[in-house]
Amino acid sequence: MTDNSLLHRVFFEEATFQRLSLFLKKRKPSTVVIICDTNTKKHCLGKLLSKVSVLRKAEIITIPNGEKNKNLDTAKKCWETLLQKRVGKDALIVALGGGMVTDVAGFVSTVYKRGMPFVFVPTSLLAIADAAIGGKNGLDFQGYKNILGTITMPKAVFIYPGFLRTLPERQLRNGYAEVIKSVLLGSRQLWKRVQNTICPDSYFLKELIAYSVKYKLGVVRKDPYESGLRKQLNFGHTIGHAIERYFLKKKDFLLHGEAIAWGMCIELCLGIILKVTGKDLAHKAILFLVAIYKLGNVDNALERDILEGVVQDKKNQGTKVFFSLIKSAGRPLPVRTAIPEDICEAIKMYNLIFRG
Ligand code: NAD
Repeated sequence: MTDNSLLHRVFFEEATFQRLSLFLKKRKPSTVVIICDTNTKKHCLGKLLSKVSVLRKAEIITIPNGEKNKNLDTAKKCWETLLQKRVGKDALIVALGGGMVTDVAGFVSTVYKRGMPFVFVPTSLLAIADAAIGGKNGLDFQGYKNILGTITMPKAVFIYPGFLRTLPERQLRNGYAEVIKSVLLGSRQLWKRVQNTICPDSYFLKELIAYSVKYKLGVVRKDPYESGLRKQLNFGHTIGHAIERYFLKKKDFLLHGEAIAWGMCIELCLGIILKVTGKDLAHKAILFLVAIYKLGNVDNALERDILEGVVQDKKNQGTKVFFSLIKSAGRPLPVRTAIPEDICEAIKMYNLIFRG
């Protein structure tokens, strides 16, 4: 792949703020616009401005936090502000936040004036380990997750794990699901350590973050537009997105990572049904995920929504439902098709394992 914009650079830890200062000095954008949400404005903006003094002159756009705001209304408000402030294509957008903010800011930047440069400063574990890497951005529309979006790489990603200090515990666990996914897909050795770790300490967490970022970058560099290899990253997501959509309509909503953890459990069962996934690994991983995320039984209403949701999944071609499964830890299987009956069987099997 020769397009340099696809090889966005990722900076980690202590050097991150110096790197960002250097990046801004070299690039000399006409204006910098920071997009943050209500929480990252409160908890992270002060630190960023104190470490990268040139950003004190930046325009700030604050969007309301939460998945329910990852929509066209929020994007429209950002575009209105950019126009009002006469922001040109030679400006730079800095997204400071979790995956919701990086997705919105990436989409807003990609579409505004046919595309302006942007960088990410991710602040949640989910964004650090996953959402900020790989150039996918998306908005939810008519209840469907990430159904509008593009693949456009940020110019760089600046990771400072210190931001995680203010992240609520549930949000940390939420991000851990995508870390577990990367480990299951990419490393048998690391899975042996992770499978006994309900809550990693800060040293292990940094190791896992570094692993997840490297793993995802490795996959994305080989297949940025998801023509084959990159599909493996969707493990847990076909069913996970349908579950997330179901709970978005309810008051007791699920976080993205929680839905993906549930999706991984059912897709592990699907792997058993399709005779591609080892039973031992699947049982162990399901019990581990159920324990961390306190997952429940799949009732009839949820099963109906899962079936309806997977048929609408944007990865599908025609009537075939596409899944990314795993054979064993470290051995992904990027493309498998299934029919609705297989999915019903997988849900039944999950409910049986869950009940013990
Ligand atoms: P989020 O951005 O909504 O963040 C979760 C909550 O934590 C929010 O309330 C946010 O304000 C708060 N927060 C973030 N950082 C904080 C900090 N340091 N201190 C205190 N509070 C903080 O959601 P998320 O879990 O980060 O990401 C989920 C989103 O990412 C979903 O929309 C999902 O679809 C998307 N996603 C995208 C990709 C991709 O490749 N683009 C990959 C995975 C997930």
